[in-house]
Amino acid sequence: MECVNVDAAAQIGDRMGFSTNVATLEAETLKHETCVHCGMRYLYPLSRRAHGIGSSYFPFLNLIASMDAEEKANEHAYQRLKQKHANSFDPVRCPGCQGYQPQAIRELKRKRAWITLKVGLVATICTAPILGIIAQFAVSWLSAEVIWCVVLAELVLTVALAAGWWPLFNPGVGKTYLWGISPVLDDNVLTLEAHQAMVDARHEVRAQEELQAEERRAKTMAAQFQREANAAAKKQRQMQEMAERAKRDILEQGR
Ligand SMILES: [Zn+2]
Repeated sequence: MECVNVDAAAQIGDRMGFSTNVATLEAETLKHETCVHCGMRYLYPLSRRAHGIGSSYFPFLNLIASMDAEEKANEHAYQRLKQKHANSFDPVRCPGCQGYQPQAIRELKRKRAWITLKVGLVATICTAPILGIIAQFAVSWLSAEVIWCVVLAELVLTVALAAGWWPLFNPGVGKTYLWGISPVLDDNVLTLEAHQAMVDARHEVRAQEELQAEERRAKTMAAQFQREANAAAKKQRQMQEMAERAKRDILEQGR
């Protein structure tokens, strides 16, 4: 798995030989699936990110402790990223039957319920002070009891909305609840055969390129050889001419 280090390991503590680091890694791999509905085998690129934390202690050797903590944080992030890639799924449609895999929908429900819960809880926490300020300066009938009732209602609504993802969300049968699934994800899905054909085509192109490069190299070498042979022949001719001229000169001097 080829990882990208998203954040250079962030140092969060470095004192008297004690060091703690946080690392964030990101990687994209090809996720292989076999459809539970029709048995088709397909794949798609799955991208995930993971954080890791590492601590180290080397008495009074801050630099060594820091390097060791960084390595541990990277290793921790890498192991978590590997696990995420193995156990995560993106909600993509099977190219054979257009169905979603149940494990991908389960993961999506958990994620979206968690987001709903977080957003709802933040809103609930902010409600009391905001209503308190409004009650003090603008609306006199907003008593503490009313405010607490609103907060309680918000809390109940948050939990109900978060829980709603389980009975009300099943995109496989057209139930999309609060928001659906982006069809963009389906653009990168390939059947195993299509992927194999693509890999073969890529190999073919690379082999062709290597062959062409080899031919170009051979041509260049032949041209070089020819140039050298021509130069040698020219030199041979010149030396022969010089020898004949010298012979002529000696004969003329002899007369
Ligand atoms: Zn299928």
